[in-house]
Amino acid sequence: MQTYYMKINGQDSGHDLPTLEVNNPANMEVIATVPKGGKTEAKQAVDAASDAFKNWSQFSAYERSEVIRTWFNLIHEHREELAQTMTLEQGKPLKESLGEMNYANGFISWYAEEAKRVYGEQIPATQRDKRLFVHKQPVGVVAVITPWNFPAAMITRKVAPALASGCTVVIKPAEQTPITAIKLAALAEEAGVPKGVINVVTGDPKAIGEAWLEDDRVRKLTFTGSTEVGKLLMKGSADTVKKISLELGGHAPVIVMDDADLEKAVAGVIDAKFRNAGQTCVCSNRIYVHESIVESFTDRLVEEVKKLKVGDGLTEGTDLGPLIDEKAVAKVQRHVDDAAEKGGQIVYQGSQQEGLFYEPVVITNTNDEMICMKEETFGPVVPIATFKTEEKAIERANDSIYGLAAYCFTENLTRGIKIIEQLEYGIVGLNDGLPSTPQAPFGGFKQSGLGREGGHHGMDEYLETKYVSVRL
Ligand code: ADP
Repeated sequence: MQTYYMKINGQDSGHDLPTLEVNNPANMEVIATVPKGGKTEAKQAVDAASDAFKNWSQFSAYERSEVIRTWFNLIHEHREELAQTMTLEQGKPLKESLGEMNYANGFISWYAEEAKRVYGEQIPATQRDKRLFVHKQPVGVVAVITPWNFPAAMITRKVAPALASGCTVVIKPAEQTPITAIKLAALAEEAGVPKGVINVVTGDPKAIGEAWLEDDRVRKLTFTGSTEVGKLLMKGSADTVKKISLELGGHAPVIVMDDADLEKAVAGVIDAKFRNAGQTCVCSNRIYVHESIVESFTDRLVEEVKKLKVGDGLTEGTDLGPLIDEKAVAKVQRHVDDAAEKGGQIVYQGSQQEGLFYEPVVITNTNDEMICMKEETFGPVVPIATFKTEEKAIERANDSIYGLAAYCFTENLTRGIKIIEQLEYGIVGLNDGLPSTPQAPFGGFKQSGLGREGGHHGMDEYLETKYVSVRL
């Protein structure tokens, strides 16, 4: 078992603190400990980030770009070791961890370049003796709070644009997956990111969160996690009027039209549903299939689902690792039981294993009263419903407090465009089950969040706009 430390002002910190255990969800063995930090450490991290901001924000864009690029190179060199760490603390199959490392590092390479493209503006003045300019400046110290489902990507998606724009960060990774975060911060230091620019605090979420919310020096908060905690942080940000970005829950609908290419639709649903054993906020949660093709669609889907292997993420050939904890298993089971009680037909269920492993389940004959059709399941369950008309399918897809991702399968492009325009979602995959990529804006409508991550849109979240009027 290894001991890891927090990173505050370039120092391994928290040697004298009580510790928190980090488990491998595949076998519940304790693999490491991290310090249980609280208010004091959270404040120390802000002291460091605030101090480091004076220097880092003065680096030229090209200097920052070079340091960020070196960080990218080091992560690339260490990607296999990082992927191993991720599988050990999070459970996802090693091939997915490697995929996540590439995706996560994609944000770093994208923003290393984007650092050079923070353009201002000159605006024509009304009077001859005036000049009007718009400058872009970093917002300052950024608090970064991340979840356990993407231990690397949720950090780089926030930290890379923050650093590229000249901000410094204090990070609180999820208590289940702090080691990947600590290792990424260590590589940043090796890459030449000055001390205090990236700080990682582990420990009590509430105490750390409160310290950052109260601190006026923290000018921005960026959070990915549950809608419940997101709302809490949004309220808590009001007193110091922080800028906020929130990436919260989702409940992604999939519409499969009668003219869909069945193979594409089945592959898309599998991609969108089973990544990370169904534990992503853009996972397909409810599948609306045109009644004329539901039987053939379900048969093909079940054929493919049967092939998925559930097991330890380090075992070759595993497609689905364990769920993150017992609470997650209980929640998925509650959704399946509820659907069965309300008339759902379980057409496929793998024979359930011990521990946190959960075999895929396919349910047909579902209705809108079932919990799985309204709340995020965060597990490998596919509920299928049928529809008669396009209008009804869109209406049901939009009938949610969430608006993160939606998917549609049709071979008719005109129809596809009309449908995507009506979907009240921030991300839409048309015949595509894996739309996320570093150069595109990721984020939700409605209660799925605020702001966007990725692409040039993600950079704006870390910049202030300063208007300057000059009288000659
Ligand atoms: P999940 O249910 O997926 O674990 P959470 O929203 O509980 O999602 O967690 C996402 C992140 O938010 C984690 O890093 C967690 O520690 C943190 N968190 C949870 N509660 C609070 C809180 N009250 N204040 C600040 N951060 C919190």
